[in-house]
Amino acid sequence: MVGTKNNNNCPKCSDQKYHLSNYQGKLRAILCSCFLCKECDGEGRTFRQNDKGMAYLADCSFCSPLRKRLRLLNDSGIPGKFSNVTLESYQPIGLPNKKAFSRAKDFLEDFNIIPKKLRRGLIFMGGPGLGKTHLVVSILKQLILEEGVEGKFVDFFQLLSDIRHGYSHDQSEMSLIEPYLKTNVLVIDELAKGRNNEWEQTILDQFISSRYNAADKLTLFTTNYSDDDKTPADSNEQITSFQKKSLEEKVGDRIYSRLSQMCDFVKMEGEDYRTKIKPPPRMIRKKHS
Ligand SMILES: [Zn+2]
Ligand SMILES: [Zn+2]
Repeated sequence: MVGTKNNNNCPKCSDQKYHLSNYQGKLRAILCSCFLCKECDGEGRTFRQNDKGMAYLADCSFCSPLRKRLRLLNDSGIPGKFSNVTLESYQPIGLPNKKAFSRAKDFLEDFNIIPKKLRRGLIFMGGPGLGKTHLVVSILKQLILEEGVEGKFVDFFQLLSDIRHGYSHDQSEMSLIEPYLKTNVLVIDELAKGRNNEWEQTILDQFISSRYNAADKLTLFTTNYSDDDKTPADSNEQITSFQKKSLEEKVGDRIYSRLSQMCDFVKMEGEDYRTKIKPPPRMIRKKHS
């Protein structure tokens, strides 16, 4: 490989040439110390000559693509807790989740095959703890790192709170929303979480309309709500938040109709894997007796 100091199994990055970590709650991507570009001595820029023999400074053609991808990842807004999350690290339990996993893999494989304007987004729907966010974040990370796609992650519930906070600090609603409307691939986590009052609905409508009208942009969602308002016959009574209301009831006809036109619905089912690692109640009682 041209431009690297060595490429013999770096123990720090396994020859990926970069590290991903959780830095103050945000995903941080940095070049590994094993990567030193000989072309630019690690400066990222080199002198070149134009037709008239004049020297000018330009991005290094060897390392700037990787630097750019790491920059995109640092600007993506992916939370730091997902720094080690990949599609390979997802362990699906049960058929619906295995299908969801395959759907995520197919999505990435088809990304460059399907023409931009015909690409459809995905909505991973199901109760909490099934790995919906794991799947969408893995897709986004891979698109950025391997395809150099510009994309962003937004926790919609958090954004609403930021907008409310912005009102009292003279920060316009649009300045907070715009980066997400413009981005090429947007991940909206926890769609329909919250009270969904008129104001929240207006912001969501603005989001969905803008993404819907931009035919070359992709949007991926996770939601705890189903596209089915009937309780499945074999359902676990405990997973009630998933069944109480359908997604359509939560977001309204207009938004729901747009969602179904721009995305495929991927249903996930099963128990919250996070509850499985909690100690059983008997052990908790023992501790306090
Ligand atoms: Zn390394
Ligand atoms: Zn370089």
